[in-house]
Amino acid sequence: MLLEGYTVTSGYGYRIDPFGGGQDVFHPGIDLVNEHKAPIYAFAGGTVVFAGLGKTGSGLGGYGNVVLIKDLNGHGHLYAHLDSVVVTTGAQVSKGQMIGRQGATGQVTGSHLHYEIRRETSPSYGWTSDKSASTIDPIAYLKLLDEEAKTTENIPIHVMKYEVKKETSGYVTAADAKAGKNKKTTVKPGIYLVYKTSGGMINVTTKNGTPGSWINPYSVVVEGDFKVGQKVKIKSKAKKYSRSTVSIPSKYKNKSYTIQQVGNDDVLIKELYSWVKKEDLLAVLSEKIL
Ligand SMILES: [Zn+2]
Repeated sequence: MLLEGYTVTSGYGYRIDPFGGGQDVFHPGIDLVNEHKAPIYAFAGGTVVFAGLGKTGSGLGGYGNVVLIKDLNGHGHLYAHLDSVVVTTGAQVSKGQMIGRQGATGQVTGSHLHYEIRRETSPSYGWTSDKSASTIDPIAYLKLLDEEAKTTENIPIHVMKYEVKKETSGYVTAADAKAGKNKKTTVKPGIYLVYKTSGGMINVTTKNGTPGSWINPYSVVVEGDFKVGQKVKIKSKAKKYSRSTVSIPSKYKNKSYTIQQVGNDDVLIKELYSWVKKEDLLAVLSEKIL
């Protein structure tokens, strides 16, 4: 459960000013109550932008002891009025990691956790006078993060590994690669990860994620030798079977086959029972899930 162990005592949005006056004021976060000094675990991971006593004028004044965590979307998760903090500024925090204890520091009427999502974390730790515009409903946002996490888990990213043996042409777009024009870059020899294909073109990228380039699949060679049982495709530019003068019909090209036997320079493809030159084959490496 999203906020397990807590009672939500005040929601996000306009409410009667708890400090008197009777008028509606905007509450930029939610108030959550567990036991005083109960451990508080991060609802989302990220980088600690600030941990400690929020000073007046800093953007964190009145919030008492706080932990502000910047997530991958750049939003700031502010945990306020803490009794104590157990993380330090600059630390990486995982979802579910203890960051402090519930308290009553700063401007409060009792021990609780004020949890706020700020759209930005700089300047002034994302503080602006227009709190409704500069904050997000924390419950809606946590649900969104939860959905995103599930989506990411459920959709595997298929990655194939290729070896580029000699420097080859790289293009900025798949359309350029397909047309073989507007060449903008080169792809250095090395092992690359292929993340996406588009129109038969492949996008190679290094393990570090850069630089990504769209290249023609005929420009790359797969790592290692072909093996029995391996899946292959016949390239569309393939011409004749290796041990006959018969042309390879186009209907057999760009389809997956399994290697039955491996000869010196050619392989027998199971489904066709035909010997095909290795150079006319594109290996379909076992797809890994990243
Ligand atoms: Zn509050």
